[in-house]
Amino acid sequence: MRYISTRGQAPALGFEDVLLAGLASDGGLYVPETLPKITPDDLRAMAGCSYVEIAYRVMRPFVGDAIDDATFRRLIEESYASFHHDAVVPLKQLNSNHFLLELFHGPTLAFKDVALQLLGRLLDHFLKQRDEKGVIMGATSGDTGSAAIEGCRACENLDIFILHPKGRVSEIQRRQMTTVKADNVHNIAIEGNFDDAQAIVKGSFADQAFLHGTRLIAVNSINWARIMAQTVYYVAAAVALGAPDREVSFTVPSANFGNIFAGYIAREMGVPIRQLVIATNANDILHRTLASNDFSRKELLATLAPSMDIVVSSNFERLLFFAYGCDGAAVRELLERFQKAPAALADAPLARMRELFSSATASDDTILNVIREMFDRTGEVLDPHTATGVYAAEKCNQHPDVPMVTLATAHPAKFSDAIVKAGLAEPVLPLHFVEMLAADEYYDVLPAEQSAVQAFVESHRH
Ligand SMILES: *Cc1c(COP(=O)(O)O)cnc(C)c1O
Repeated sequence: MRYISTRGQAPALGFEDVLLAGLASDGGLYVPETLPKITPDDLRAMAGCSYVEIAYRVMRPFVGDAIDDATFRRLIEESYASFHHDAVVPLKQLNSNHFLLELFHGPTLAFKDVALQLLGRLLDHFLKQRDEKGVIMGATSGDTGSAAIEGCRACENLDIFILHPKGRVSEIQRRQMTTVKADNVHNIAIEGNFDDAQAIVKGSFADQAFLHGTRLIAVNSINWARIMAQTVYYVAAAVALGAPDREVSFTVPSANFGNIFAGYIAREMGVPIRQLVIATNANDILHRTLASNDFSRKELLATLAPSMDIVVSSNFERLLFFAYGCDGAAVRELLERFQKAPAALADAPLARMRELFSSATASDDTILNVIREMFDRTGEVLDPHTATGVYAAEKCNQHPDVPMVTLATAHPAKFSDAIVKAGLAEPVLPLHFVEMLAADEYYDVLPAEQSAVQAFVESHRH
């Protein structure tokens, strides 16, 4: 399997190199040159299979001969053994035709675990094979840092350094990162804001000489392996609901567009997906682009669904590439225009997107209403991200006869402020979480200076 860049100018790479590279050298994102197919018979044969088995069958062709069968299966098994539910991603029925797909049973209670548990292990495997060490650096304002740390804590050839803005992440989010005690996990509280932390990380990727040849690796949502791992649960849910003989629709609380793009890939591979609904919070670039061809930046708003607070959706570029008929030059031209000013998509690609995708935006008030109403109707407590999804699913569903699956991206206890604000009782934290939150914290405080952080990384890596 070969991967090509969405901007058409970087060399095609194999799976291992794409994983280690993250971003393509022309600034684009890697996508498979051709997508493997899942036939109706393949889907039928998955009925009753475990999540691990489905994951193996769906992802195997993307990996090609980069990993042998037995090793790949073991990495998948280990990744999902860390989940606190036998089904890994259980489906829960809300009403006669609306389901939640609970993606939050991993170690950090948010959907990012599904991909990052596997990504850490894949990276570690390749580095060991090459007899190399790698350094991961990332800046976080919320969920990604903790999920990346949990995905790497057991990786012998990886050191991970996660920067968070000191005093500006919630206590629960900070403790999720800082209570991990492992030699290769390094938390840095930066005396500055999130943008300062992110600038230090970006600057370090542009100046990798400070590591004297050791590879610096990005695990942000543009890494292809994250999309690949997320494709699996679309297939598993569709099979559970009757694919290939019955269609299914999905609604996805979206920000960087990584999660829902995996649904698009599943559909292109052959899963009978009727509709993909994009749910956004007030940071609505995806909805504005799709509904009114307004592809432009707006200032960042702090919402009740903070893990969806973004200005630009990085993975949207991957959908643009397919909608523009895999024309890297057209994508490059569009994104160069977008860097400078509001841009509009060409008619044909926009029309293509609209055939499959629809979208809706949930304000903070809507989020609170949905949480309250859903609890009154069903007793189910939604987290604020999932609430944007339930709202959009009900608003945009054009095929009431097709089952709708809304992706539940976080456990409600992780965002208890919003739940209490909606007038519900404070949700109970799962036991493994309570234990973790009582543990000692480990982190260093550094000034918001790239040189200070780089010196720290250089002296603490293994
Ligand atoms: C990251 C995140 C999202 C957004 O997912 P994207 O892949 O960026 O679209 C939604 N909900 C939660 C809880 C998240 O952590």
